Amino acid sequence: MNNRSGSRPKLAVWKFASCDGCQLTLLDCEDELLEVAGRVEIAHFLEASSARVAGPFDLSLVEGSITTAHDADRIRKVRAESKSLVTIGACATAGGIQALRNFTDVDEFLSVVYATPSFLSTLGTSTPISDHVPVDFELRGCPIDKRQLLEVIGAFLAGRKPNVRDHCVCVECKQRGNPCVLVAHGTPCLGPVTHAGCGGLCPAFNRGCYGCFGPMESPNVESLIGALTEVGMPAEDVDRVFHTFNAWSEPFRTAGRREERP
Ligand code: SF4
Ligand code: SF4
Ligand code: SF4
Repeated sequence: MNNRSGSRPKLAVWKFASCDGCQLTLLDCEDELLEVAGRVEIAHFLEASSARVAGPFDLSLVEGSITTAHDADRIRKVRAESKSLVTIGACATAGGIQALRNFTDVDEFLSVVYATPSFLSTLGTSTPISDHVPVDFELRGCPIDKRQLLEVIGAFLAGRKPNVRDHCVCVECKQRGNPCVLVAHGTPCLGPVTHAGCGGLCPAFNRGCYGCFGPMESPNVESLIGALTEVGMPAEDVDRVFHTFNAWSEPFRTAGRREERP
């Protein structure tokens, strides 16, 4: 990515409803951060510095979901100022854990949790950034993987497509040499429908995947539900296991709803 002026491309990092974990992944790049910082001008990244440079921005990384009318307005402004916009993490790409509110009545939560809910101004839903503005690339994970993040930043700086594979975690298990916990031990695992990125981390420690990278490209969720049922997972647990960080992304959204399954 080259600026017409010949100066370094401007990188901005924006936060919406989120825990900051994906922004911390960028700070966690340690060895690579200085090189990234040398190739771009970090124009807006409040997690790292209060210094700000005015837009427009060459690349905006957006963390977090839209949960207020104010943020819906703010993301439109960010989009208008950004040549390329990439969402980072499950909150920004799928509404995040906070999208569990989408399945229920937010006013009921407010009345239970807050002493004076009338002071709050919030939307009834938590929605991904792509519901509001066009997005150039969505990076999955809760949190994102730093190798994938560096690949995405490098790709946008070079003006090419990011090389982020959309196969499932099972492929990463094979590459890592993990024994399959689902087949070998009957441990429930969402790996067959979950987007790659972690390198098969949980099965390497004899744990099933719980889907923090969200759905892979064309996942066969119904088939996996059959396998989970076969290893003895009760139907209510099958519902629950899809209702975590990526609950609002299809097909996890309906996979976790027994009454909506045929
Ligand atoms: S995707 Fe996960 S780690 Fe990233 S901001 Fe959201 S909750 Fe935090
Ligand atoms: S452990 Fe899970 S992710 Fe790994 S191969 Fe088996 S089903 Fe796939
Ligand atoms: S194995 Fe699944 S739950 Fe574990 S880190 Fe990878 S994607 Fe997340």
